[in-house]
Amino acid sequence: MDHDAVRAELEGRRDNARARVATLAKRPERGASQGFGKRIGDGTVEAISRFNDIGVGTTVEAGLERTERALAKLDEGTYGLCDSCGKPIAEKRLRAMPDVVLCIECAAKR
Ligand SMILES: [Zn+2]
Repeated sequence: MDHDAVRAELEGRRDNARARVATLAKRPERGASQGFGKRIGDGTVEAISRFNDIGVGTTVEAGLERTERALAKLDEGTYGLCDSCGKPIAEKRLRAMPDVVLCIECAAKR
């Protein structure tokens, strides 16, 4: 694995996730749907949209945590090793999800 390329990829993901979290944290009260794709004028639809955004925020934060953990593992020299059992994570799995910190067996147990 090319760790420099992985680091660049993870840092890009982290920065995107941080920007998303910051945007969600300081949402204006009204007309806040710009930047999330479609412009929504109707109040009811907007309420649903805001509700959905809470879910998005949680997912983004969880992703950010995982990405930061993967970057910490690069620094520790344990990148590619499972956080739970310490065994190497399959390279195919790492390529598909560069921020993965658990092997497939341990991930399945959670
Ligand atoms: Zn494991």
